[in-house]
Formats: sequence, structure tokens, C-alpha cells
Amino acid sequence: MTHRLARRLSAVLAATLVVCLALVSRVAARDTGKARELRETIDRATLEVAIGRGRLGLDDAGLVHSLAASLRALGAYYGKLPVDRVRVAVTPTHGRQINGSTRCGVSGPVVHLSLGAGVDAKALQNDWVVTHELLHVTFTSLDDEADTFTWVGEGLASYVEPLVRVRAGTLTEATLWTELLAGAPQGLPEAGDRGLNRTHTWGRTYWGGALFWFEVDLLLRERTAGHASMRDVLRAVGAAGTNVCVDWPIERLLATGDAATGTHVLSEVYARRALTNAAPELADWWKKLGVALDHGHATFDDGAPEAATRRAMTSD
Ligand SMILES: [Zn+2]
Repeated sequence: MTHRLARRLSAVLAATLVVCLALVSRVAARDTGKARELRETIDRATLEVAIGRGRLGLDDAGLVHSLAASLRALGAYYGKLPVDRVRVAVTPTHGRQINGSTRCGVSGPVVHLSLGAGVDAKALQNDWVVTHELLHVTFTSLDDEADTFTWVGEGLASYVEPLVRVRAGTLTEATLWTELLAGAPQGLPEAGDRGLNRTHTWGRTYWGGALFWFEVDLLLRERTAGHASMRDVLRAVGAAGTNVCVDWPIERLLATGDAATGTHVLSEVYARRALTNAAPELADWWKKLGVALDHGHATFDDGAPEAATRRAMTSD
């Protein structure tokens, strides 16, 4: 996540558009093909893949297989995919970049994926962008004409994406914690910040948002003795039939999350981080969870008071 660059664009033809960029490793390109459409059923959801003309670094079957695997992994996290149709529009491009954006198209959620000719199947499967965009697909677009709440969706996609991929085996637990501990300070408020609703820097939008959801997850687990987590929040939001094409008021999201967990954790953390400049106590979190950075790599202390919570956050 430390190299993640993203920005929210104003809607032109669609209600919601999110753009995310990443770099991947160098590979050979495949032949140019004609524009074509492919379809696959995952659980009870339909994956539609529209591929534009140009060179890709993997064949159509490999591309659909990789996208389907990401969608299955998200379904495994949710328990059941909360959407019945996902369309991915793939535009072949140059280089090794994977760029993603998600918006509400005329016929439903659409992930726009620009794939460099240097991206092969392994690089795509090991990358974060597709999972990040699919999380945008499944989560409500908040009523947000002033972009006040961009951090909510970006933070959620940023926090949950590595959790989904660790469960799927495409990311290690050590890498997840290494990236979280290394990147988290970028989410901390600085002098002059006015809370996540009003301070819209890149660091506060992505890392501040990710820390918000991390704190929600941690507090839910602590206060319910591990019976509830932010996954219950996500499941409840998904079960309400929302997705990127459905705008909710922020109050409905908070009420739905609190009702699903039988707590006030979501509202409480929102009041603290969205509306004030209060900083989370990162050092205390890492200490009680038993995780630290040593020369740029995560180390774990299974004797820490909440080491079991740390393990549960990436596995249950
Ligand atoms: Zn995003």
C-alpha cells in the first residue's frame, strides 16, 4: 500500500469513480486480439469480462481465471458474494502497470482495468488492484457530493484487501503486517488536520481510512470477546442489497454496522476519527497485538496480551 496512488474524480457519466494505480513485474506480451466478451459464473454471481483490442501479457483464459479467483476470494471472505453481477472492462495498455477504477455504469457496477502488456497471470494474481476494486463494487457509495467520505470507502478497500488475499494465499501474513506497520504513520493526523471528514490528503484518505477500519475491527473483537468483527459490518451492509451503485447516508452505514455487531463501536470510532483530530495510539496497538517492525520486516510476539486477536484478524 505504500506505493499506492489514487484519486477520486468527479462523476461525468457515472455516479461513482475511483482510480487506483500500481506497478507490477516485467513479463512478455501476448498477441493483439479483437475486442471480445467472456463470461463466467462464480457461486451464483456472473462475472462479465470485456476485453478491448491490444496486447496483453496473459491469454483470455488466464485473465478470466485470475479475475474469477479474486472474486471467489472475496466471496470466501464475505461468506457469500453480496452482488450477483460484476462487469470488468479490460483495456490493454503499455508497460507493467495495473490501473483500476470502479464506477456505477448504466447497467450496474463496472471495474475498469488497464493492464500493461508486461503483466502476466502470476503478476496479476499477486497484485492488490483487482481485489481493491472488487471491494469498491460490493460497498455502498455514500451520499457524498462534497467528497467528505471518500476516506470511508478507500480506507475500507485498503484495509480489507490484504485480509482477503491472506485468506486466499496470495499474500503472506508477514507482508500484511509489514506494510500495515510501515504505512500506518501516514494515516496519523498532523497539526492543522481537522479529522478524516475534513482533511483529504492522500495519507489521511487511504491510510487514515485504513486505520479507521482497523480500529473498528480491533475494538469489535475486544469488546465482544472475538464474537464480532468488521466482517460482520461488511456482511450486514452487503445483505442490505447495497453496492457501489447505491448511495447511503453515512448515518445508515453507522446504524447498520452497530446493529449488526450489537455495539456502538462504529459510531464511536467515527466520532473520534472523522470529526476530531485525535490520533490513534499505534504503539499501544502494536504492543498488545505482539507485532513490531525489525529492519523493515514484521516480527511477532505470540506471548503478547492480544496475540490471539492479531492472529484472528487475518484468519477468521
Ligand atoms: Zn480505491
